[in-house]
Amino acid sequence: MSAHYAKDNDIAIITMDNPPVNGLSYATRLKLLEGLSLALDDAEVKAIVITGAGKAFSGGADIKEFGTPWASKEPHLLNVIAAIEQSSKPVIAAVHTVAMGGGLELALACHFRIFSRACDVALPEVNLGLLPGAGGTQRLPRVLGAEVALNMIVTGVSIKSQDLAQIPGQKLIDKLVDSAEELKAQALEFARTKAQEGGLPLVRNLPCKHPNADAYIQFARNMVKGMAKNLPAPGKCVDCVAAALKSRTFDEGMHIERENFVYLMSTPESRALRHLFFSQRAASKIADVPESTPKRLVQQVAVVGAGTMGGGIAMNYLNAGVPVTILEMQQEALDRGLATIQKNYVAQVKKGKLKESDLQKRMQLLKPTLSYDDLQNADLVIEAVFEEMDIKQKVFEKLDAVVKPGAILASNTSTLDVNKIASFTKRPQDVVGMHFFSPANVMKLLEVVRGSQTAKDVLSTVMASAKQIKKTAVVAGVCDGFIGNRMIEQYSRQAGFLLDEGCTPSQVDKALERFGFAMGPFRMGDLAGNDIGWAIRKRRVQERPFMRYSTTADKLCELGRFGQKTKAGWYDYMEGSRNATPSQWVEDMLVQHRAQLGIKPRKISDDEIVHRLLFALVNEGARILEDKIASKASDIDVVYVTGYGFPIHRGGPMLYADQYGLYNVVRAMQKFAKNPYDDAQFWQPAKLILELLDAGKNFNNIN
Ligand code: NAD
Repeated sequence: MSAHYAKDNDIAIITMDNPPVNGLSYATRLKLLEGLSLALDDAEVKAIVITGAGKAFSGGADIKEFGTPWASKEPHLLNVIAAIEQSSKPVIAAVHTVAMGGGLELALACHFRIFSRACDVALPEVNLGLLPGAGGTQRLPRVLGAEVALNMIVTGVSIKSQDLAQIPGQKLIDKLVDSAEELKAQALEFARTKAQEGGLPLVRNLPCKHPNADAYIQFARNMVKGMAKNLPAPGKCVDCVAAALKSRTFDEGMHIERENFVYLMSTPESRALRHLFFSQRAASKIADVPESTPKRLVQQVAVVGAGTMGGGIAMNYLNAGVPVTILEMQQEALDRGLATIQKNYVAQVKKGKLKESDLQKRMQLLKPTLSYDDLQNADLVIEAVFEEMDIKQKVFEKLDAVVKPGAILASNTSTLDVNKIASFTKRPQDVVGMHFFSPANVMKLLEVVRGSQTAKDVLSTVMASAKQIKKTAVVAGVCDGFIGNRMIEQYSRQAGFLLDEGCTPSQVDKALERFGFAMGPFRMGDLAGNDIGWAIRKRRVQERPFMRYSTTADKLCELGRFGQKTKAGWYDYMEGSRNATPSQWVEDMLVQHRAQLGIKPRKISDDEIVHRLLFALVNEGARILEDKIASKASDIDVVYVTGYGFPIHRGGPMLYADQYGLYNVVRAMQKFAKNPYDDAQFWQPAKLILELLDAGKNFNNIN
């Protein structure tokens, strides 16, 4: 079903019915037009109500049709809108819940709109790098005023109908009713009244004014420029609202909206945002674990270790209202962990992001303990102790002995073998990796590491749990570093080689930051603590002596230059400041180091810097796909954008490689392989890349 037609005596009712949110699919558009024709041809019908079944009035374009011919098949939404505006009988939009994107644009074309109080109203197209392309930028300013409308269009935020109804002079909502349940009856009564009154007012005929239009538009442009940095869509939204204010006719403004919409559709930035939107949805789907897989009940969580990660992990569950027991070995460490959690919440209260009463509620849900006996009833235990296998072994043996059967035992390890950790228990099917990122209460990414024996219901429970705590979960297989950290190893190695060959840390960082990364690798190292990578490297050098690294990072750490926390790392830091100042000591160390290696430094271009680092990610990413550590290239993109600061407008490393062209990527790798100071073996293009190239495909084709 897409939309159905019914009559209540003299009122025609067209109900969009395309679950889950009445997306405006081809079939729905067709049915809306058919319904309008039926109503107009029926002499008994005096007015037409358009409404939605189920959870929404309409959530806008049907995402199932994205990228298919159905999306652009006529009739378009603009045809439906034109038909409504041409109707000789009043058309009333009856909105009971969600009116977003095209759904709101449809309502704006109607002669009247009746809303229930708690509807979510938004034009969220900007989140996909687009703008509302069916008149939203021209009609919304006419009913809400240019400032409120532009704010909604440029941010995509959703506002409640009851709040919009308060705006003085607003013309979006002709009538507000208390509840969704009474909407239908009220809409019929309202429609009858309007039919009797006569008159077919259209939003397009309303004036669009601002007392100080030029100054306001200039102000908006400046604001948006600062906010949107690498994304063209917000600026184009401003252009369209400016057109609504300045054009001689409504249709002239519509023309400008169309031109900008078509332009944005073809930008790589919009392509990247759309790719990420679909990739995030796809990441939650696991081929052999359907969504219908039964889930275990998670009502009580326990966290082992109250350090940097344990505290943040606990906060995620406390925020979701789930009781958490947190365990440490020593009272002092427990107190420290609790104080940090409390401090983080207090900071949120000070910033006005959290109510004092909610702080209290959350802290009351937290139970500190030094005894494993208090973990007996936990449904999910997440271990976040030191990254050492023998310590993890002791913890898991203990958990196996005390925790109730059926509980899920998760490890937050960043690099260690989850299968080995599972083998410390007699229930490896209940063991899984839950790799959070620091700060764990802020970062969106969760790598869910699937052990060789992890049960399907454990996996599906953990994926659901991730949703509950608002994380983006991506499933990874077991290997050293899983998806993200296995790839970052190659990225870091390249960064090290670049220093050996002639770059400074700030030159590398600036090149990556210009590409769009929030932070280059060296500033990132200083922030995270260079000692963390050092510890991992020491283990890896033992396990894989054939892997060659630049030793500059080790030299830095041997002198205690761990980064911001020691006020010195790749950069110098003034007391109390996070500003990175290039360090003369580091530069001297690099000069000496190159001399020892017999390397004559050369000038390295930003292009080479960026591509060596990015294609290192791509080549390792491709090997990760070959090894089935990630099931789709899009999962890798989600990991990098949500966990590693990869620029959103680039869509992730694998999409970047597709857009750069795999042929060009391979050529660049072959060139890098010839560099005597680099790792020729590593730069052999992954088999998968060569196969894709040969078959005329790219990573996106195998998602
Ligand atoms: P941390 O040193 O800040 O905290 C570890 C805590 O575990 C300490 O408070 C320590 O007292 C406690 N602990 C140690 N042995 C224990 C035991 N037997 N029983 C109970 N508590 C014990 O370390 P962290 O940075 O929070 O890292 C913890 C885990 O998370 C590691 O496996 C690490 O690889 C992983 N991880 C860290 C990060 C990061 O950026 N810090 C990111 C992702 C994953």
